[in-house]
Amino acid sequence: MIADQIVPPQRTLMGPGPSEIHPSVLAALAAPTVGHLDPYFLKIMDELQSMLRQVFQTTNPMTMAISGTGSAGMETCVVNLIEPGDRMVACINGVFGGRMAEVAERLGAEVTRIERPFGQVFTPEEIREVVNRVQPKAVGIVHAETSTGAWQPLDEVAQIVHAAGALLIVDCVTSLAGAPVEIDRLGIDAAYSGSQKCLSCPPGLAPVTFGPRALEAMDRRKHRVSSWYLDVGLLRNYWGSNRAYHHTAPINMNYALHQALRLVLQEGLPARFARHLLHHRALKAGLQAMGIQYSGDPQHCLPMLNSVLIPDGIDDMTVRSQLLNDFGIEVGGGLGPMKGKVWRIGLMGETAKKSNVLLILAALEQCLARQSRRPQPGAGIAAATDVYLQS
Ligand SMILES: *Cc1c(COP(=O)(O)O)cnc(C)c1O
Repeated sequence: MIADQIVPPQRTLMGPGPSEIHPSVLAALAAPTVGHLDPYFLKIMDELQSMLRQVFQTTNPMTMAISGTGSAGMETCVVNLIEPGDRMVACINGVFGGRMAEVAERLGAEVTRIERPFGQVFTPEEIREVVNRVQPKAVGIVHAETSTGAWQPLDEVAQIVHAAGALLIVDCVTSLAGAPVEIDRLGIDAAYSGSQKCLSCPPGLAPVTFGPRALEAMDRRKHRVSSWYLDVGLLRNYWGSNRAYHHTAPINMNYALHQALRLVLQEGLPARFARHLLHHRALKAGLQAMGIQYSGDPQHCLPMLNSVLIPDGIDDMTVRSQLLNDFGIEVGGGLGPMKGKVWRIGLMGETAKKSNVLLILAALEQCLARQSRRPQPGAGIAAATDVYLQS
């Protein structure tokens, strides 16, 4: 039998996304739907683009929200910049770098995969070696690898890629609005994100931005873009001044993203980044006091995605089910080779707050105490409290 009405449980979303959503963003979803060419909606689109430029720290005119999730943003960047036979370097240190390589391979690109173990980042030297050897048209790299918690530095990578005359495509799905994404300062040519991570909006839109070199590369294409839906040449006519119908924009999702971006900018980017770091530091101190260690390179841990090793003798699913059923908390399990080995605790956007940090530490203590491993009572909360008191 079908339930009468949708009544989802109220969860505390501390996984790899979706993150918690401000009530005003949910309210925007319930606002009256207008037409996709209604003057009111066109104004919303203009404002949305302007706010996205601020969050991406760019003046790129071609900045917009793709109708689809983060993966649609990934496909948009790759399908518009890569043609069959083009050489592309894909930097893979987790699941999402691998996904980018697969997208490019499906387009008939000659993809060179370079790999780092999960949890580590690429060094400038590794990038320089492969770029000089392959002479690719584009290099794809993940800024914030949500599958591992690794935070990839981009400054030198951008210089190396540009010195070789290649385009730099960056996955900012998890970093955007949680850590600096400096499109113009680094000259990143194409970048994509998703609405449900640090932007704290429901899943369904993928912000993208394209710089001048990327647009030139699109103009020089020999083949038509193989995806009609994601063809930036066509999307430009809708998001640009022509306002030509392409597809029906998901109106209410765009309202929600508009409101989510307003909240991001009201808080201010520096304050927002500092908030993510503070709660990450408190969480980390608390977990370590409970004997739980981070899985990746300690020099490159993301603030918004905390990947930690499941202690010996502790069963992954038992703990995650208990967190969900007893406390209403969602945390992520490991992906790919990390399955069963790590938990991924998200502190993205609205989720990054003191009450959530203290809740997860207290709840985890309860879960661990049920199994073989009993942390010293209150140790996690005490260590997190110290961080908060010192800040
Ligand atoms: C979530 C995520 C994606 C994919 O986004 P979807 O919204 O799940 O399609 C891509 N890259 C990274 C780094 C992500 O965290």
